[in-house]
Amino acid sequence: MTAQVNTKPRGRQFFNNPGPTNIPDRILRAMDRPVMDFLAPEFLEIHRACFAGVKRVLKTDHEVFFHASTGHGAWEAAITNLFSPGEQVLLIETGYFSLGWKELAEKFGLKIEVVQADWRKGVDISRIAERLAGDKNHEIKAVLAVHNETATGMVLPLAEVRRAMDQAKHPALLLSDTISSLASMEYKMDAWGIDVTIAGSQKGLMLPTGMAITGVSKKAMEASRKAKLPKYYFNWELMTQRQPQKFIGTVPVHFFFGLQESIKMLEEEGLDAVFARHARLADATRDAVRVWSDGGKGPQLFGQTDDRLSNSVTTILMPEGHTSDAMRKAALERFNLSLGGGLGPLMGKVFRIGHLGDLNEPMLLGCLATTELAMKTAGVPFTPGGVDAAIKSLAN
Ligand code: PLP
Repeated sequence: MTAQVNTKPRGRQFFNNPGPTNIPDRILRAMDRPVMDFLAPEFLEIHRACFAGVKRVLKTDHEVFFHASTGHGAWEAAITNLFSPGEQVLLIETGYFSLGWKELAEKFGLKIEVVQADWRKGVDISRIAERLAGDKNHEIKAVLAVHNETATGMVLPLAEVRRAMDQAKHPALLLSDTISSLASMEYKMDAWGIDVTIAGSQKGLMLPTGMAITGVSKKAMEASRKAKLPKYYFNWELMTQRQPQKFIGTVPVHFFFGLQESIKMLEEEGLDAVFARHARLADATRDAVRVWSDGGKGPQLFGQTDDRLSNSVTTILMPEGHTSDAMRKAALERFNLSLGGGLGPLMGKVFRIGHLGDLNEPMLLGCLATTELAMKTAGVPFTPGGVDAAIKSLAN
């Protein structure tokens, strides 16, 4: 008899993509309310609370802007607000998303110099310091860095990047994409000397996709007043003039209803506890993968620099001769588990387990056990015992 294939999965889907992420019922309920005028005093109170809350999450006292867009909009906002055509920036290669930001900036006529890096190892920070020290005329206007490269599952130590810039006594702005790290991993915009923070709603903030957030330092606001690239919807200066809503166009009030609840949830747990939970879940995931790869035949951790492995997403390299797509298809179609795929040149070669946002131990163990099940179903070789290793890690 052939095995019964689950054609209509029951139960909740286990959603382990590295963004969007699970939206907690509390946030869904907070958004499930009638619309209100965005200039009504009741809404402006919520709006004020969200600005203040986001500043606490970013750890900044500087400006914050909200855009009705995905993270790409905040990338574009940063480029068009800060630069003039032909200006030079230094982009740190981390993986697929860093190169996406490069492509966007090139379309706006910037000259992009890339500090190249092996995607599995991460950049050597001393190369950034060297390049900046050699830029005697300060032609480089900014350093563009992706804090957490969602494609590779690796982190860039931003405090070290800032130190390298300071050692070189270079005045460039430091722009950081925190789309898959904010509210999951430690981030200190002001203490780390970040001039522009780029964030999105659909990952650590546990909201639907479609709201981008930008934190902007005083120095970056000053630079924006001289920048000549055309902009309108993303124009920070114009947004600042649109008071009290600080927004161009109709304010998406439901996002703010959700964001207020998200901030409440993050602060009830405590940001440090949120980061510790993400670290615990990430450690357990990595321990599982290390067992799967034991003996050299199974899937292995993509990142090869242990202290740069991400706490929000783990990228896992498939064994030679096996694509991740068949395994992910089995996971989704038979077992109702959604895993992330490989991006760009990593398509089919890796899969990604997102362990960020509204996630706990049972959800992670369900994901890891079902990943083992899907690997078995798809004929992917691996050493059993990954789930046991994860349990051991979580029991500590
Ligand atoms: N940067 C990083 C690190 C990302 O993970 C993503 C999306 O996953 C983006 C940028 C693009 O953001 P969005 O898809 O919200 O436009």
